[in-house]
Amino acid sequence: MSRQETLYNEWINLPQSYKRAFSLLFSDLPLDFKLKKSIEIQGFNELTEVQTRAITKGLLGQDLMVASKTGSGKTLGFLVPAINRLLTQKPLSKRDPRVLVLAPTRELAKQVFMVAKKLIQNTRLSCALVVGGENFNTQAKYLKKNPDIVIGTAGRIADHIDAKHVFFNGLELLILDEADRMLELGFSSQLSLIHEQANHRKRQTMMFSATVDSAEMSRMTDNLLNSPEKIVIDKVS
Ligand code: ADP
Ligand code: MG
Repeated sequence: MSRQETLYNEWINLPQSYKRAFSLLFSDLPLDFKLKKSIEIQGFNELTEVQTRAITKGLLGQDLMVASKTGSGKTLGFLVPAINRLLTQKPLSKRDPRVLVLAPTRELAKQVFMVAKKLIQNTRLSCALVVGGENFNTQAKYLKKNPDIVIGTAGRIADHIDAKHVFFNGLELLILDEADRMLELGFSSQLSLIHEQANHRKRQTMMFSATVDSAEMSRMTDNLLNSPEKIVIDKVS
């Protein structure tokens, strides 16, 4: 059993009252040194509940379906395992982006981008923001520089796929943030396009949302995820 698994199993088997009393610390996690350092510099110490569950499982390479309230810390829940994977594993492709984070709106994509930039500040990793309303050709130039991480909105990213500015055949990790809102906004055809291009056995997919209970959500989960670990948190921790 790996160290991540041991830690997770120890934590998950604690009674609820203990879980609250003994939070897992970022310094306890088996993370790349540079990533750990930038988490520490930003003053993050204890993991929230959703982070404890999503990060420990995400680090193992599992597909995740996570539902947890706004403000519970989902952003680090997916960026930490994603960045750790980039820092510790060989790329599948030297050309294609390795991680794609999709958000429902430009503002949300920008917020995730700001957090990601801070987390990769001491590394050689690169990150591109690709959202609507900004210059298409400038974005095409960024995409040609082979960023490791692309963060953006599904509509604009699909436009760049159509224009052959970017290929996701080598994508290792697809993350859908606020997947419920993405569906409400009608992005399901763009999601399918992206999924089809990156549809290979080694891809890991993590879907995050605030709700789980729609038929459309479970259809999307069935289409995009491979035997996902379902993590549903009732309370904001
Ligand atoms: P969500 O996506 O679930 O709505 P966010 O990822 O945006 O939540 O996080 C909400 C706020 O909590 C942010 O200001 C973030 O910096 C802060 N936060 C996240 N994780 C932690 C943590 N482990 N310790 C302290 N603050 C945190
Ligand atoms: Mg969020």
